[in-house]
Amino acid sequence: MSGQQKDVYLVIGGSGFVGRNIVEQLLARGDIVSVFDIVQRHHDVPFYSGDITEESQLIEAIQKSGTTCIIHTASPQHGAKDSSIYYKVNVDGTKAVIAAAVATGARKLVYTSSAGVVFDGGDCINIDERVPYPEQPFDEYNDSKAKGEALILAANGKGGLLTVALRPAGIFGPGDRQVMQGLYQAYQRGQTHFQVGDNNNLFDYTYVGNVALAHLVAADKLVPSQSADSDKTDWNSDTATLS
Ligand code: NAD
Repeated sequence: MSGQQKDVYLVIGGSGFVGRNIVEQLLARGDIVSVFDIVQRHHDVPFYSGDITEESQLIEAIQKSGTTCIIHTASPQHGAKDSSIYYKVNVDGTKAVIAAAVATGARKLVYTSSAGVVFDGGDCINIDERVPYPEQPFDEYNDSKAKGEALILAANGKGGLLTVALRPAGIFGPGDRQVMQGLYQAYQRGQTHFQVGDNNNLFDYTYVGNVALAHLVAADKLVPSQSADSDKTDWNSDTATLS
């Protein structure tokens, strides 16, 4: 970071589980941060009420806040009744975020993707970002996340914008509104008397504080290739997905 201009952050989806933790960690290290979301919860930071499918709302928020680094965590939650919302927000909305970032001259865009983008229903063991998206997506949610991620990576370098995508799997911790709720609902339905597989199945869960920290580290490492060369890491690449 030495010698680099300090970033000003906009956390899109900053009222959510992951977004909130990112905001807290940015505040804790003394950074300037604003939130863009359709709902306001939690923070005492500048809040921009808006929908990511509206590019003009994004442009206004980025300009007013003086944002140089956008962290895009917004997504409908898994389990929506109408799956078209996934494509509207995760694909069209992500396109609008990229367009707004380029139009305003923002320098960095960090995207919260999902490990589900490469899940096809089978086991995924010791895989990394070289694994292609499945020909048959597992479901619409994961398909929309994959399409959103592909857009983010393709935008790397556009108008000087640097992009990166992170792929968390399950996330746990305070403020979680999905994982524990799902487990508890299974308990309430009395679905505790069977197991999936032979009891050796593995699944990655990451503590939300670590997921949030990964976003900060990714943003910090997202520097033009000249600086990145100095630590022998080509972050300025369209395969810069951190799994
Ligand atoms: P969350 O629902 O708690 O937070 C998402 C936030 O995005 C919410 O505050 C919501 O209001 C906002 N949002 C939704 N649609 C919007 C729109 N059109 N415009 C503006 N804001 C909008 O979800 P989360 O668990 O914090 O997930 C954050 C990201 O992490 C998502 O992109 C999700 O796909 C990804 N992810 C989550 C998990 C998990 O286990 N929670 C796992 C892997 C990936």
